[in-house]
Amino acid sequence: MKSDVYYFTARTNNHEESLSKVKGPLALENIGFNSKVNNGDKVVIKTHFGALENVRYLRPCYIRFLCDHVKTLGGVPYVAESCGWGAPEEITGIHTEYSGRAGEEEYLEVAKMHGFTEDTMGAKLLMLDGRVGINNIKHSINGKRFNEVLVAGRLKEFDHMVLATHFKGHAGAGFGGALKNLGIGCVSKGGKVQAHMGKKFEFDFNAPISDYETCLKICPTNALREGPDGKLIRDEKKCRYCYMCKSVCKNNVIDTGSSTQEEFIIQMVDNAAGVVDYYGKNKIYYLNYVIDVTWQCDCTGGSDVPFVSDIGILSSLDPVAVDQSAVDLIHLSFMNPHSILGDIGNISKEKPNEWFSYTPRFDPETHELDLNSNGKESKHWEVQLRAAEDIGLGSRDYNLIEVNIESKKKN
Ligand code: SF4
Repeated sequence: MKSDVYYFTARTNNHEESLSKVKGPLALENIGFNSKVNNGDKVVIKTHFGALENVRYLRPCYIRFLCDHVKTLGGVPYVAESCGWGAPEEITGIHTEYSGRAGEEEYLEVAKMHGFTEDTMGAKLLMLDGRVGINNIKHSINGKRFNEVLVAGRLKEFDHMVLATHFKGHAGAGFGGALKNLGIGCVSKGGKVQAHMGKKFEFDFNAPISDYETCLKICPTNALREGPDGKLIRDEKKCRYCYMCKSVCKNNVIDTGSSTQEEFIIQMVDNAAGVVDYYGKNKIYYLNYVIDVTWQCDCTGGSDVPFVSDIGILSSLDPVAVDQSAVDLIHLSFMNPHSILGDIGNISKEKPNEWFSYTPRFDPETHELDLNSNGKESKHWEVQLRAAEDIGLGSRDYNLIEVNIESKKKN
């Protein structure tokens, strides 16, 4: 069955057509949000504050106007993210590649630098998986690779969730949209690690305890301790699967395995299915902001120039349809010759073209970033959409309904 997707163009001629104040709230209204919010309902707006040094994340004003809209309906807005990989600097005192997003304290500093504060949002900010990413709920699913997902624990505090997603590329997932915001953004720190690596979590219990010293110190739940024989013991009941121990493991005594790009995508989609199943399909509203479409995700410090022009906002109750429609509109767009796609050889630069088949990706052998200068095709974007449809998250078939603000004003 086809799902409805509402489309609001990024083109604006005056403030009455503003993408932030007018079209964002209207995109929610069109998917029935307004009539669902009761007085005092808590509404969490899940977005991405952007990694340190990233400059292509969603501008804070887009989210602020959504918060204001929630208030006009009598709801109480909250703006949320979740903790990134690794151990926060407040615990380790060490600056690593994960620094800046590993815990609430440091991530809210980055958020402040990027313009997201309680003052600018008019709403409280929080990490859905708690202060250091260990607040999670194990939710059972019948996934393709996972039968249990670590859903971000604070989700249960909210009556509704608006998934306000910056739609862009992603070297691992093929693209980053609503599905990724669910499958990576709405799981705990450990859920992110599991999506990327799989579920392997093995200790070399025969290694001398001196090799475990850092891991022992880092564990936020005291799940690790030295046993009577001088070997390491992990208490399964206490472990919150944050993998902070792994992130500081210098001696390779903890092995969390690795996954191929396809496995990562399927695992991410399993996570997304777990989040939706746990939280409730009818309580989630999807907004894709298809603007600043770079090949990189907001979770990297790199922010290349967009490879297509801004497209606008897409809204739907179906995460697969909203992502499929964004991909399709991008593939119908003119390519920016001054972007990464202009540098790539052996591809037609004419539209339409499946641009996401040519954006940089991780090399399947080395897991290193491949800028794809020789123009090899890779359809990982389609793997993601197909997996999401297969698992029942939604439909790739949709009705695109363009909403014209001018005609709305006349009615
Ligand atoms: S033992 Fe478990 S709770 Fe402790 S740091 Fe490792 S993954 Fe986290």
